[in-house]
Amino acid sequence: MSAEKTIHVGGEWRAALSGATREILDPADAKPFAVVAEGGAEDVDAAVAAASEAFAGGQGVWPQTPTAERAALLRRVADLLQRDREELGRLEARDAGKTVEEGRVDIDCVTDAFRYFADLVVGEGAGRVVDAGSAEIHSVVVHEPVGVCALITPWNYPLLQASWKIAPALAAGNTFVVKPSEITPMTTVALVALLVEAGLPAGVANVVTGPGASVGARMAEHPEVDLVSFTGGLVSGTKVMQAAAETVKKVALELGGKNPNVVFADACATEEGFDTAVDQALNAAFIHSGQVCSAGSRLIVEESVRERFVAELARRADRIRIGRGTEKGVECGPLVSAAQLEKTEYYVAAALEEGAVLRAGGWRPEGDGYEGYFYRPTVLDGCHREMRVVREETFGPILTVEGFTTEAEAIALANDTEYGLAGGVWTADAGRARRVAAKLRHGTVWINDFHPYLPQAEWGGFGKSGVGRELGPAGLAEYRESKHVYQNLNPAPVRWFSG
Ligand code: NAD
Repeated sequence: MSAEKTIHVGGEWRAALSGATREILDPADAKPFAVVAEGGAEDVDAAVAAASEAFAGGQGVWPQTPTAERAALLRRVADLLQRDREELGRLEARDAGKTVEEGRVDIDCVTDAFRYFADLVVGEGAGRVVDAGSAEIHSVVVHEPVGVCALITPWNYPLLQASWKIAPALAAGNTFVVKPSEITPMTTVALVALLVEAGLPAGVANVVTGPGASVGARMAEHPEVDLVSFTGGLVSGTKVMQAAAETVKKVALELGGKNPNVVFADACATEEGFDTAVDQALNAAFIHSGQVCSAGSRLIVEESVRERFVAELARRADRIRIGRGTEKGVECGPLVSAAQLEKTEYYVAAALEEGAVLRAGGWRPEGDGYEGYFYRPTVLDGCHREMRVVREETFGPILTVEGFTTEAEAIALANDTEYGLAGGVWTADAGRARRVAAKLRHGTVWINDFHPYLPQAEWGGFGKSGVGRELGPAGLAEYRESKHVYQNLNPAPVRWFSG
C-alpha cells in the first residue's frame, strides 16, 4: 500500500477518486508525519456499493459463513494485533498524542474486543426456541446480520472505538465501511490491512479516510447503508441521527460525557484511603490529557475534606510530566490538535472570568520540546453548575471542583448534566456506595475506582451521551436483526371467512 492509498474498497487499496490527500500531523511537534487519501462522497458510494455486493442481501460469503468460522477469523485478527502490538501501539501514540504505554494498552484492549466477540457469537447460531404453548407449533427466534454498516469513529481512542464496532459487526456477519477521524486515521487503516491478511473476503471490510462533513455525512445518509454506528461529539451525533432518519437506518450513538467523580469524606478517613482517592481523581481527569469521553472532569467533594483534597490534588497535578509520548518518563502527551488546545484555553479563561479559582496549571508550556499542542493539567476550584466549564464537555485537561454537604446534594450535583455516560463514587460505607450508585443516571458507575471497563459489560450513555450500547451482549445485538420463525406442524383452515 503506498502512502496515499489508504482507501480500501472491494479488496483494493486506492487513492481518493479526486486524488486529494491530507497530511497527518504529530501533535507533539505539529509537523506532518504521514500522508493519507482525502476521500469524498464518491469514495463512500464506491465503498458502500462494494459492501452491499459482498452482503448480497444476506446471501454473500461472509453473512453465510458459519459463526464458528467467523469467530476463528476474529481470533486470527486478535493474534495479528498482538504480533504487531509494538508497532501499532507506537503508531496510535504518535497519531493521537498518547504515551507509548497508553498506545500498547489500547492495542491489548482492541485485542480483547476481538476475542470477546469471537467467544460470544459461537453457539448462538441456532437461535432461541420460544414456547408457543402448543406442541403443534415450532417457534424460534434467529439472529441475522443487519446488512451494510457505516462505522464512524473519533480521534481520542481511534483503534479501540473502531474495534468496538468492527468486531461485533463482523461477528454478526455484516459488511461495513469504516471512517476513522480525519486527524487520526493511521491505525484503522492498519487494522483493515490485518483483516485482509486474516482472510476476510473482499468487499466485507472497506475503509474511507476523509472528513466528517463529506465522507461521514454521506455514510449517514446513504440509502444502501442499513445501520450507522457513530462515536463522537454531540453536535455531529445529532447530524448523523437526522441524516439517518431519512432512510430509517438503525442508529447507535456513543457521544460525550461530563462525568462526576463524587468523593465522600469517609473515603479519606485513613491516609491510605485519602491517597488512593486523590491518585484516582488525578487519573480520572488527566489520563490522555482529559481527552476521554468518560473523563472524571467534575470532582464533587464533601466540604469537610475539600481543602485538603484539592491542595494535594493540585500539588500532584503540578508534578505531572508532560511531553512527547514516545519520550521516557513522560506521563501525559499533548492535546490532539490546535483546535483542541484553543478550546481548552477558551474554557479556562471563561471559568476564571466566571469566578473559578485556579489551583494548578492553566497555562501552556512553550519552547524546546513543546512545539506541539501542550497544556498543563488544570484544577479549577470554586466552580458551580452555572459555569460553562462545569456544564459542557471540554475534552481537555481541566478538572473542576464543586463541594457538597449531604448525600442527597452529592447525587443531585452528579446527575445535573445533560449527559450521562459515567461516574465514580468514593466512600468507605458499602451501603452508601450502593445507594448512591443506584441513584446515578449514568451508563457506568464506578465504586472506589475510575475508568475500568470490561468487554463483557455494556458501555454507553443515558441522556445525551447516546443511543444504544457497545460491548457486552447488547453490543452484539446492535448488529443483528431478530427474526421470528413460526412453524405450524399441523396446518388446517382457520375458517375466519365463511364463504
Ligand atoms: P466529532 O464528532 O468531531 O467526530 C467524530 C467522527 O465523526 C469523526 O470521524 C468525524 O470526521 C465525523 N463527523 C464529523 N461531522 C460529521 C457529520 N456531520 N456526519 C458524519 N460524521 C461526522 O468528535 P471528535 O472530536 O472526533 O471526538 C471527540 C468526541 O467523541 C467527544 O465528544 C467524546 O466524548 C466522544 N467520544 C465518545 C465515546 C463514547 O464511548 N461515548 C468514546 C470516545 C469519544
